[in-house]
Order: sequence, then structure tokens, then C-alpha cells
Amino acid sequence: MAAADTLGKTFSCSSCDFVVEYQYQGRKPPFAKNIMLVEDCYIMKDPFSTSGGFVCVGGICSLCGCSVCMSNDCSLFYTQRFCLKCAGKNMKEFPPELQQEISHRLNS
Ligand SMILES: [Zn+2]
Ligand SMILES: [Zn+2]
Repeated sequence: MAAADTLGKTFSCSSCDFVVEYQYQGRKPPFAKNIMLVEDCYIMKDPFSTSGGFVCVGGICSLCGCSVCMSNDCSLFYTQRFCLKCAGKNMKEFPPELQQEISHRLNS
């Protein structure tokens, strides 16, 4: 992903209606120094920050590859990002306390 391609990209969550413009997708936002993220994120420059701040607006489900926002209703992070659908389908792969969390989220 080249640092140069910056403008006019839109992130849309596959699970809710959240749509936002983002500037970078990946782990190392060029405008935030010394930052290495633990996952490939969709990143928006923080409009209120003057020091290279940014906001992760979404990520990519490591199983189905769909784009999901960071909302608790859409995805969760456990070593990798999962959309809630995949988390539900693969419930057994998660530790018991997360299984509870997932079924709670799926049912709410
Ligand atoms: Zn969402
Ligand atoms: Zn998924």
C-alpha cells in the first residue's frame, strides 16, 4: 500500500451503516510517527489533532475478509480481528469468557 494514495477512499462497515472517509489502510500510518499497529486498520487522520493523531475506524475480518468497524456490535479483536458473524460461527475457537461476550453481543 503506497503512502501516496491518500484521498477519497471510503470505508463502509459490512455489518452496520457506518460509512466514513479514511486516509490509510494498513499498519503503519505515514502521518503518525513511530506507530505500528497490531492489525491492518482503516485509519482516519484525527481532525482535531495537530500532532499526527489518528483514529482507527475499522478493520478486516481475518476469516471472511469483510470490512468491519470497531463497534462492539460489529467486530471483536482476539489476536486478530473478527466480524461478529465469524466469531459466532467459530465460537468454540475462543476462550470461555469471550464466548460469553460473543453470544451476549449476538443476542443484544
Ligand atoms: Zn459496524
Ligand atoms: Zn468475518
